[in-house]
Amino acid sequence: MAENLDPGARAAAEQKARKAARDAARQDESSEINKITAGKSDIIPPWEMDATGIALVDTHAHIDGEDFDGDREEMLARAKQAGVVAVITFGDTMESSARVVKLAASHENVFGGVGVHPENAFPLTQAEEDNFSVWAKEKNIVAIGEIGLDYYWEKDEDKRKLQRKMFVRQLALARGLDLPVCIHDREAHGDLMSILKTEGRKNRGVIHCFSGSWEMAKELLKLGWYLGVDGPLTYKNAAKLPEIVQKMPADRLLVETDCPYLSPLPYRGKRNEPAYVRITAECAAKIRGESLAELSEQTTENACAVYGLNF
Ligand SMILES: [Zn+2]
Repeated sequence: MAENLDPGARAAAEQKARKAARDAARQDESSEINKITAGKSDIIPPWEMDATGIALVDTHAHIDGEDFDGDREEMLARAKQAGVVAVITFGDTMESSARVVKLAASHENVFGGVGVHPENAFPLTQAEEDNFSVWAKEKNIVAIGEIGLDYYWEKDEDKRKLQRKMFVRQLALARGLDLPVCIHDREAHGDLMSILKTEGRKNRGVIHCFSGSWEMAKELLKLGWYLGVDGPLTYKNAAKLPEIVQKMPADRLLVETDCPYLSPLPYRGKRNEPAYVRITAECAAKIRGESLAELSEQTTENACAVYGLNF
């Protein structure tokens, strides 16, 4: 990478490189899945299924980005047809948080979280931090997120330190604004738990796309956190996740897409969208021995409780 870039430009270039790596991985997955599903035309998309009695909330999406620039309104209409009554979309940079504020203001059923994702951590100035207080008062803004720690993509110790600093700062910001947080944790379980038990002990919110053990889940549940599950629940290599979904108390479970990433089967590797939360919800319902209607009612109640939604 060019040495003469200023920190902002360097961060943007690094972010672009990581997105390219993720897109390439998605492309690889997509061609694998296409091989598996080739010739199978019996897949019914969620928006063509009966949505009577289904009222789901996709509690974690990223619909502000260019992936949806071509069909954002159609995508939201498909979600509605699939029984998804609300979507919570999260910013991951200052720019995307500003776009989230606009989206939430212009759509009744779109709620938003504003925050800086650990992959994009940077030394936040006071003036930048002040933006959050302004955004927090905007229509349908319900959380600070997506914030957290990502040691999978970040191997550099100094940058991990910066992630922790920014995470702690955004936790404080959320407490000051009396908002829940939405937390990303990838391969940073130890540091995450120690921060949540110290600086974050008075925060509330969600550990999204939970990827820890049942032991860790129990600890988080005891501390009052909600856990979000995404498309990987439907994968054959879902590992410990199904067991956690089965054992955890119903009143702390949330279903999410994290779209455009993490599509559930049979769409793995393709662009994800809020309608597909229904597939993850159906999978969770099956694991828990509940009907989709029951699970949807409970998880939507949970979404309303933790994010203070009213619709
Ligand atoms: Zn996310």
